[in-house]
Amino acid sequence: MDKWWGNQGKRLKPHEGLDLCMYQTHQNQTLFLDEQTKLPSMYDGLILKIMDDFIGKSVILEHRLNKNGPSRFCTIYGHILPLSGLYEDKAVMEGEILGTLAPPRNLQRNLPPHLHLSVVWISSNISIQPLDWDSMGKLKGLKWIDPLSLI
Ligand SMILES: [Zn+2]
Repeated sequence: MDKWWGNQGKRLKPHEGLDLCMYQTHQNQTLFLDEQTKLPSMYDGLILKIMDDFIGKSVILEHRLNKNGPSRFCTIYGHILPLSGLYEDKAVMEGEILGTLAPPRNLQRNLPPHLHLSVVWISSNISIQPLDWDSMGKLKGLKWIDPLSLI
């Protein structure tokens, strides 16, 4: 529920992922991600949906771990500007660039550019097309995983 930016108060609702805005080089330099930062897919996958979020777009990818299983294993890359060649149903390979970080909008000056990363099992009963961030926060049938356990 905690904000890491601005007044560092509480969020309006629980955060379903991990926000990444800095990294450390091999020389122990800490640098900020910026709008030039290229964002690769963590795994081979299929783009299920590209949707608006409150900063840029979010891309939902499915990774076929268990074909015909009861749930789809998905990663979601939020607050990005997807490359123009991305489209729903496109297959992507691990390491393939999905886009760059979206610049925060005017009202979000105290919010540095950052990647929102979510990892989630989505029940196969749930249709992907109507999903948005609001409904994903409320629906049963989504099991969120801490991305730090995978990266
Ligand atoms: Zn976030």
